[in-house]
Order: sequence, then structure tokens, then C-alpha cells
Amino acid sequence: MRSAEIERFVGFLRDKRSVFVLTGAGISADSGIPTFRGQDGIWKNYQATDLATLSAFQRNPQIVWEWYHWRQSIILDAEPNEGHRALVHLEEYCPSFLILTQNVDGLQQKAGSKSVLELHGNIFRARCMDCGQTIHHELEPEIPKCVCGAMMRPDVVWFGEPVPTDVLQRSFAFIDSCDLVIVIGTSAVVQPAASLPVYGKNRGRQLVVVNREATPLSDLADLNLFGHAAEILSDIVRGLNG
Ligand code: NAD
Ligand code: ZN
Repeated sequence: MRSAEIERFVGFLRDKRSVFVLTGAGISADSGIPTFRGQDGIWKNYQATDLATLSAFQRNPQIVWEWYHWRQSIILDAEPNEGHRALVHLEEYCPSFLILTQNVDGLQQKAGSKSVLELHGNIFRARCMDCGQTIHHELEPEIPKCVCGAMMRPDVVWFGEPVPTDVLQRSFAFIDSCDLVIVIGTSAVVQPAASLPVYGKNRGRQLVVVNREATPLSDLADLNLFGHAAEILSDIVRGLNG
């Protein structure tokens, strides 16, 4: 059953020149990095989805920074997995290729992918709440302070905040001329990321979804592969090389 789906996926890739990939926390789950939703998203009795907001930070910057430091330390201990590496191979295979990631962990770039856009920022950057200056930030115990004197926050996009317009525009423009959209390990409930595959589908792009479970995109997909991203994507690379 699975091998027939893998073959179909490989077939989709064989004759596609231009491929757009949207990734979410699920691709990094196989590296041991917790996702936001489900049991994995609970930290010291806080829901991850409640900590990743501006109001949580304004209420208690210390606890939010602690949570980010905890997440940074997990990411620093983690390595890219077979799923990340498979996307490096796909980038080499496809004439035109772009990954848009909702992840803030930088693991896709660490695996060696070149065409990666970050939609939700990067966990190893801090940004001034006042002047917007950004710095590299890694496991500092104190809340970082900008040279201008103001407090700095993690340079990530929190719930309710806008995503970078240029990244979104480049993604839509890429989908306008691509052949295939692949969505990997995202619950597809966070906007505007979740709307990109729908946009592609409305323009006649083929859609493949890789996830452990069903998501709002499952019914729209031309092909669903249920299971672990690392396993499925390495099967795909083997299939392409075989
Ligand atoms: P999410 O937690 O909402 O959903 C994760 C999805 O991945 C779920 O649909 C789940 O079924 C699937 N999944 C889990 N393990 C998988 C696996 N091994 N293989 C395939 N699929 C698997 O995450 P999201 O959709 O990315 O969106 C929420 C936000 O979470 C994003 O804004 C992102 O910035 C943030 N986030 C990032 C990281 C990271 O950088 N690694 C981690 C947690 C959350
Ligand atoms: Zn400043």
C-alpha cells in the first residue's frame, strides 16, 4: 500500500520542473524537537500556543524568554534528520525548488538546503522592541537589552502578528509558476501559511501532503502520505535514485 503511494509521489516528481515545499514543526519532530500542538506542546503546564504571543511576553517576558531558552537548548542538541536531508537531495534534483518553512530552528539550512525562506523568523535572533535592531542570541540567561536601552524579544512571528510581506510575496510568486506543491508536517491551521497550498491548488498545481495524521489539507490533496516525514522522504529519494 505504502510503496504504491511512494511510487506515485516519485512519479509526480519525475516530470515536475518546479517544486514548492511548505514545512512545519513535523519535519523537525524526527530530530526530537517538540511540535506546538498536542502533548508535545506542553511546557511547565503552559500551552506552547499560549506562550507564543505578544501579550504573554508583555505579561511575563522572563517566562517567555525561559521557554525560548529551553527550546534553543533542544535545537542546539538536535541534528537535521533524514527528512531534512531528503529535501537537500530534492533541491539538487529539481530544476527549480523553494522551501518555505514555518520552523524557526534553522535545521533545514543546517542540513544544506540553499533555497529556504523563513516565514516565522529564527529562534537564534533577538529583536529590539523599540528600534527593531536584531542580534544573534543564544542561551543568554538575562533578557537581552538593545544598545538603545530597550528590551529585546525573540525575532519570531507570534500568533496574531503579521508575517514578513516579502517572504509571503516571493512564495505566492513561486507558486504562480510551479508544478507541484509539497506540504510536510504542518497542522495547516496557522495562517497565512495554510492558505498557500490552497492558493496553489486553485491554480491547478498538484498537491502532496506528508503528515502523521489528517489535516484540513488532506481532502484537497492529490496524494496523502501518512507517517513520519523522515521515513517517507527518504523513501522518495531512494525511489528517485532507483
Ligand atoms: P504544529 O505543531 O501545529 O503541527 C505539527 C504537525 O506535524 C501536526 O500536523 C502533526 O501531525 C505533524 N507531525 C508531527 N510529527 C510528525 C512527523 N514525524 N512526520 C510528519 N508529520 C508530523 O506545527 P506547525 O504546523 O508548524 O505550526 C505551528 C507553529 O509552530 C509554526 O509557526 C512554527 O513556527 C512553530 N513551531 C516551530 C518549531 C520548530 O522550529 N521546529 C517547533 C514547534 C513549533
Ligand atoms: Zn533598540
